[in-house]
Amino acid sequence: MPELPEVKTIQSQIKKHLPIKVEKIRKSSVIKSILHTKVPNLDGEKISKLKRHGKCLIFEFHEDLFLLSHLGMTGSWRISKEKIREKHVHFIFIGEGKLLSYVDPRRFGHMYFFNKEELQTYLKRLGPDLLSKKLNADFIYSVLSKHPSREIKPLLLEQKYFAGSGNYIANEVCARAKILPNKLCKKLSLSDAKRIKKAFSSILKDSIKHKGVTFQGGYTDAHGEKGQGVSNLVVFHQKICGMCKKTEVKKIILKQRGTFYCPKCQQ
Ligand SMILES: [Zn+2]
Repeated sequence: MPELPEVKTIQSQIKKHLPIKVEKIRKSSVIKSILHTKVPNLDGEKISKLKRHGKCLIFEFHEDLFLLSHLGMTGSWRISKEKIREKHVHFIFIGEGKLLSYVDPRRFGHMYFFNKEELQTYLKRLGPDLLSKKLNADFIYSVLSKHPSREIKPLLLEQKYFAGSGNYIANEVCARAKILPNKLCKKLSLSDAKRIKKAFSSILKDSIKHKGVTFQGGYTDAHGEKGQGVSNLVVFHQKICGMCKKTEVKKIILKQRGTFYCPKCQQ
């Protein structure tokens, strides 16, 4: 599933091509399973900005018209000059010799045309973006303190606290912070929260630099390319821990999600 670094990569690649004046749109026959609002009249409208919060891309036409796009499991946007030769294209903006195409083989993505108020209501359900200054050690510690009996790693996946997080990020954060993924939050201190903050910064920086992480059959960027960040992972789907370079990585399931850790490096 695309997480913050993958969504940010797509955002950066498309931003270079904006603004785009919309001349035509195309929709697939199954678009209703992805797009949950009507398409407004876009005559003369331009996609002027592309913002992001967590894993949501926000195309801005003007101050009261937006398209929010959540990529789900396998969604991606492509920027191209010609029609892309791919299956599963569900929505296309066409304008000024450019095509902006939404591709989504499994169709777990969601899209909504929103006015400003609707957009704000949607975004209120999300916590601070992982790259925001609000995501500091004090904030992380306050979230941990509210959930003393919960295990740390599943909590790090919750978008209402950590917008943009996902399974590989949460695994790598626990590893880089040297904390066992099933450790209860009541056993974690403010200094653990500081290490969690550093670990978030570290994995985000590594993955963004490598244009995201692609696993089998997974994420592709706005040019249809795979991300190269898999080489940075220290535990997620790794056999040997990338930190001590000698211990076998263990796998457990926490809240139905594959969870990887190094029994030597993490406590
Ligand atoms: Zn290790």
